[in-house]
Amino acid sequence: MKQILFLRDPGYAKCPSCKNFNSLHRSRARDLKEKFIKATKLYKIYRCKSCGWRGYLATIIITTKAVKLFFMYGAVALISGLIIREILKRFLTT
Ligand SMILES: [Zn+2]
Repeated sequence: MKQILFLRDPGYAKCPSCKNFNSLHRSRARDLKEKFIKATKLYKIYRCKSCGWRGYLATIIITTKAVKLFFMYGAVALISGLIIREILKRFLTT
């Protein structure tokens, strides 16, 4: 199984606002909305100590391969669903 999703630590990423490296620090959730976002584990709240930027950064990167696989599985599921429906229709009408 190839790795299609990988975790990263946005804390080592550059600040989206001032583009400084190593300036991001984990920030505490201030309200319910932020607590909810944090609870999904997909995003973490960060604050930049250089420019004061505060926001969410994704902890998971979805690669283009993952998107392609997702659509492929979706197509397979759709086709098999249609085939099953046709078979059932035949069984029900005869
Ligand atoms: Zn910054």
